[in-house]
Amino acid sequence: MNDSGLEHMLLQEKATWTGLAACRGMDPDIFYPESLTGPRRREAVRTAVATCRGCDVQAECLAFAMNAGEFDYGIWGGLDAVDRRRLVGRNERTRGGNGLKLRDLLGTHT
Ligand code: SF4
Repeated sequence: MNDSGLEHMLLQEKATWTGLAACRGMDPDIFYPESLTGPRRREAVRTAVATCRGCDVQAECLAFAMNAGEFDYGIWGGLDAVDRRRLVGRNERTRGGNGLKLRDLLGTHT
């Protein structure tokens, strides 16, 4: 397990929703594929995103990552770091309006 994977586990341990996390017990490196290359990285990303889409706490996980400033590494709530940075930009542009629509973003059960 790399340092980012360990950090992911430790941060999740502090949150109350983690008991429902679909990734519980999975290899944390899948959710931090930055250290992988080629097909292994693509497979890890596919597995992580598919797991997140079926996760009952996807919205909570994403909100946690956004509040914790997790914008550099890993997949949280089904979004990679690039998508989370885009989300911040989108949210700032919509400030004063209706704000962020997690349901639209996640396309799931939020
Ligand atoms: S959304 Fe993904 S990373 Fe977050 S708890 Fe669920 S499975 Fe794990």
